[in-house]
Amino acid sequence: MTTSYEALKAHLATIGDLQSALALLSWDQETQLPPGAAESRARQMSTLSRLQHEIFTGDETALLLEKAAHDLNGADYASDEASLIRVVQQDYELATKIPAAHVAEMTHQESLAHHVWAEARANNDFKKFLPALERIMELKRQEADYLGYVETPYDALLNQYERGMTTAQVKAIFDAHRPALVELIAAINAAPQVDDAVLHRNFDIGKQRDFGLKMIEAYGFDFKRGVQAISVHPFCTSFSINDVRITTRFEDSFLNPALFGMMHEAGHGMYEQGVAQNLEGSPLASGTSLGVHESQSRMWENIVGRSREFWVWALPQLREVFPQQLEGVSLDDFYKAINTVKRSFIRVEADEATYNLHIILRFEIEQELLNGTLKPADLPEVWNSKFTEFFGITPPTDTLGVLQDVHWSAGLVGYFATYALGNLLSVQYYEQALKAHPNLPNEISQGKFDTLRQWLNENIHQHGRKFTAAELTQRVTGGAIDPTPYMRYLKTKFSAVYGL
Ligand code: ZN
Repeated sequence: MTTSYEALKAHLATIGDLQSALALLSWDQETQLPPGAAESRARQMSTLSRLQHEIFTGDETALLLEKAAHDLNGADYASDEASLIRVVQQDYELATKIPAAHVAEMTHQESLAHHVWAEARANNDFKKFLPALERIMELKRQEADYLGYVETPYDALLNQYERGMTTAQVKAIFDAHRPALVELIAAINAAPQVDDAVLHRNFDIGKQRDFGLKMIEAYGFDFKRGVQAISVHPFCTSFSINDVRITTRFEDSFLNPALFGMMHEAGHGMYEQGVAQNLEGSPLASGTSLGVHESQSRMWENIVGRSREFWVWALPQLREVFPQQLEGVSLDDFYKAINTVKRSFIRVEADEATYNLHIILRFEIEQELLNGTLKPADLPEVWNSKFTEFFGITPPTDTLGVLQDVHWSAGLVGYFATYALGNLLSVQYYEQALKAHPNLPNEISQGKFDTLRQWLNENIHQHGRKFTAAELTQRVTGGAIDPTPYMRYLKTKFSAVYGL
């Protein structure tokens, strides 16, 4: 006899398969879709999105949820059963607030906007992107109204990526470390600058790729259950715990984008691959929030990948691949070069010290866009003046300014804040791992990453979406999201690099 819980799981698995198919079409769109297919792909994705939404928001889901919740009443909060019911009830509540027609329209607009944005970005032509952006912002405002909020429309959108978090909470966290961040960057700017010319030599792309793949394989990204491809904007997606896709991009005269980008996306990928197998095919089989997800990518990219210990092990190997480019470059030179702090225009290339300022800028702009106090047409001007205020430099083009990110064209509004939260969480979690395993730095200097990865598996990955970011952080650290450890980490690291 099928229990009510098994019936619910089977129903959700069907919806999950539709979601996976949609994600596969999206992956294909980002990695190899010919430009002429934009319209047809937009239609196909819109259809799948509508079907998935219709089935999920239908009466059957409500009925199955109700029965399973009744039968499993009193189950342990952390059990698979109670967690699935709790999380899906919340998903259902959010999804039923948005009409199917709105979801289809959103998906269609996003798919069209993607190519318009890519062209506008390539040609520094904001006006070309403006109508699509206006339409998307209009739809997002409508979406916030459908979802409902107490204080500000931004709350409704933020809640989709960081369940339970409010704009006011994020603002408090940002306010608590912004002054110290500005102060640190000013001190670094006043110090003798680090020479990072070594990273800008000519690096064969094929060799970069092979070296990067070797590094992330050592980290523990499982290529039997994962694939890497190339895209304009690197990302990670998954169609199953056992099918995780990551992308990267290459520059032949700059080592960082591909190398650290691969470490970053592998961090996301290992999170997805690390979810407990018994959650496979269920809505719990994914990372719990974007902030927690980003904590994993940042940990592998920065705390591990930009540590001196890591390069004790990796530099001799990189030197074998690029002997001429690295001739006469010491470990100290290289370590300083990859930890250069520079006020720069592009967020994805920003260093650890300036990164969160890029996010705080977007966080403020997005709220104004949603509140209607800022019109999309005025964006380039507002972006540039805010950027100048924050960083003391002005983007010379919109390509290097307001057009740089894919997010708005993809309808991802309320998303940026999670990147900064991820930075903060990465250090909070790493400090706990280090407490449990004080020998971690020594292991990293020998190219051993199992202890760290297994600690992450056990404490974070395996739970999937069972706990919210706040619940998980409480379990792991005994406290809430807190910028103090991150600022302590930055100050220690960059005081040494810059002799502050
Ligand atoms: Zn990321």
